[in-house]
Amino acid sequence: MESAPVRVGMLGCGNVGAALLILINEQHAAVARRTGLALEVGAVAVRDPGRDRNVPVDPGLFTDDPASVVANPEIDVVVEVMGGIDPAHRLVVEALERGKPVVTANKELLASHGPELYALAEGAGVDLLFEAAVAGAIPIMRLLRESLAGEPITRVMGIVNGTTNFILSRMAEEAMPYGEALAEAQRLGYAEADPTADVEGIDAAAKAAIMASLAFGVRVTADDVYREGISSITSEDIEFAGRLDHCIKLLAIAERRDVGDGPNIGVRVHPAMVPLDHPLASVRDSFNAVFVEGEAVGELMFYGRGAGGRPTASAVLGDLINAAGNLRRSHGARIGNLQPAVVTPIEELESAYYLEVEVDDRPGVLSRVAAVFGDHDVSIRSMEQEGLGVEARLIFITHAARERDLRATLEGLDGLDAVRSVGSMLRVVGD
Ligand code: NAP
Repeated sequence: MESAPVRVGMLGCGNVGAALLILINEQHAAVARRTGLALEVGAVAVRDPGRDRNVPVDPGLFTDDPASVVANPEIDVVVEVMGGIDPAHRLVVEALERGKPVVTANKELLASHGPELYALAEGAGVDLLFEAAVAGAIPIMRLLRESLAGEPITRVMGIVNGTTNFILSRMAEEAMPYGEALAEAQRLGYAEADPTADVEGIDAAAKAAIMASLAFGVRVTADDVYREGISSITSEDIEFAGRLDHCIKLLAIAERRDVGDGPNIGVRVHPAMVPLDHPLASVRDSFNAVFVEGEAVGELMFYGRGAGGRPTASAVLGDLINAAGNLRRSHGARIGNLQPAVVTPIEELESAYYLEVEVDDRPGVLSRVAAVFGDHDVSIRSMEQEGLGVEARLIFITHAARERDLRATLEGLDGLDAVRSVGSMLRVVGD
């Protein structure tokens, strides 16, 4: 049986908002049948209310005053799909303070103000749901928050930026240089005219902070995340990775470290060499995936569309139904009280590494190069040599080593007169 409608106030009606309004309209009967809930859109705030948006909503419900939507006593749940920090931050705070559940897709807002907003929602006993903020349509937030709430999670690794995954896929599969692959992503609408947020890992770092917060119950913001993008990845790196049966992916990694007393974590975004037989290696084009490792559960992987109006709207609608149901039952989806995080700097984290070094091709060089690794406690797992006339290219894969020791090794190699250049360094993940 349908109860009284739950009135929804929308902040934004762009790619995601418009797709959500269409989906609510299409799914209205199915949602009512399956959940007993009737969702009714009560107001929609946009910048330009006069524009025809081709959505199934009375044009009289549009306003250019988002604060009036939040303050409207007729609105039960607020959906924030306007993006950016201001005024979204102020509006979300206002809604939570008024005791209204909030559904948002805004990773930027959560990565900078998440801990404050989670605490506010927790204190007010209202929902703050944000499934669409990480990996678009993939329901990873609810999994971390509910299904895996009792799981001792050890690591969460995600391909959470479709633009960079598309670029890296094109570079590997079509042997395209980086610039050409980026231009194609822009032509197809996968990359913005200014691609900085995607290619420099800023978008992925925001998502890494949110994933780390939920996976480990700690307060993490984007400033805590070590970040490297993909703009320096060359066709040669991709080719060498392929020769070694690896591919290169931009990974967002949040991991638990069993040191010290408190919750000690590492959280980083960087390109990584991933073995071709790892499940994440099969995630191509603009798709996203999140790989979760836990002590009890073992390995899990979730795969799907990370962006696009309709897939993202599906995740928002799932949250909206959850929030509406909780409101009717007078309870909230708990995040819990997040603890302060001890975030380990990248220098102290461990990884295996891929290194490319160009050296003079003469006797004795190899042993001097190998000695530098040994001097810094970095042990070599494999080495390949390629002749280049009077020079040779050495490709090393190391065993797991501390980043600080690896960096010292790079410096040591740079100081050897037989070393012509120290080329690419990539972390190897998932072996
Ligand atoms: P968008 O197309 O730019 O839409 C933004 C909407 O918000 C527009 O309707 C805009 O009004 C309205 N708006 C912006 N500032 C406003 C203000 N100050 N007052 C009133 N209205 C305002 O953005 P989107 O792609 O839908 O993304 C929305 C959110 O979802 C962002 O946080 C984004 O990161 C997140 N997200 C998007 C995707 C995706 O695939 N697009 C995927 C995952 C998450 P006008 O229409 O009048 O300009």
